Amino acid sequence: MRDENCIFCKIANGEIPSATLYEDDDFRIILDLGPASKGHALLLPKEHYENLYMLPDELAAKALPVAKKMITKLTEVLGCDGYNVVQNNGETAGQTVFHFHMHLIPRYKGDQVGL
Ligand code: 5GP
Ligand code: ZN
Repeated sequence: MRDENCIFCKIANGEIPSATLYEDDDFRIILDLGPASKGHALLLPKEHYENLYMLPDELAAKALPVAKKMITKLTEVLGCDGYNVVQNNGETAGQTVFHFHMHLIPRYKGDQVGL
């Protein structure tokens, strides 16, 4: 499933280059263009689903272990002190790109990240 007008479909499938940290058959993890903190990454499924409600259970079940491995690795690499894993559904909840994604936001002692 693809949406021709969706930027994350193009990024996830490599049609638009991105700073990719990880890729497999189902997902791509990229650096966020407007990072909330150093190393802020986004996990995107390659198929287009607007939000968590639309995401098939099978993909949802695959996403968390991938996110977990990534934040474990990035914690080592970045030396961060904690992590927020955030996922917005709907404009009211702060969603601005309507292709499911998980924010992986490293936290550093004393940072001023507002979520
Ligand atoms: P949302 O507000 O939908 O939860 O998150 C969308 C995120 O996507 C924002 O953090 C924003 O900075 C990021 N973003 C929007 N457009 C692009 C883009 O073209 N490339 C990348 N890497 N990130 C983007
Ligand atoms: Zn999409």
